[in-house]
Amino acid sequence: MKNSILYSILFLKCPQCRQGEFLKENPYHLSRMNAVRSRCPRCDLKYSIEPSFYTGSMYVSYAVGIAFAVATYVVLLILGHADDPLTIFISIVVVLALTFPYIGAVSKAIWAHLFIKYDAVIAKQAKNESRT
Ligand SMILES: [Zn+2]
Repeated sequence: MKNSILYSILFLKCPQCRQGEFLKENPYHLSRMNAVRSRCPRCDLKYSIEPSFYTGSMYVSYAVGIAFAVATYVVLLILGHADDPLTIFISIVVVLALTFPYIGAVSKAIWAHLFIKYDAVIAKQAKNESRT
């Protein structure tokens, strides 16, 4: 489970070794929100493979935001509160306002995972180095 791509994206890990931290801080540390580290602390991968690399993650964050909005609507449907459009609108706005730091972080992680492939050999080396 810890080596899965889903775990790596959701818990904001390095795309290459899936162990090192991806961000400098927690996404909810708002003054340095979603600042990506320059290198992986475990495998030394350079996270930004070209200037302005993470600009494209804005497209991903749009899709992730829509997914959160749809999920909110489905939860309202299940709870039986999806009758009033104003309730739906306010619920979605509140959910997006509370989760936007994480949505931004996860979008950068998805973007990085699209372009940087997992390397099992490097992951094994990183794991062994952390044990010694
Ligand atoms: Zn790494």
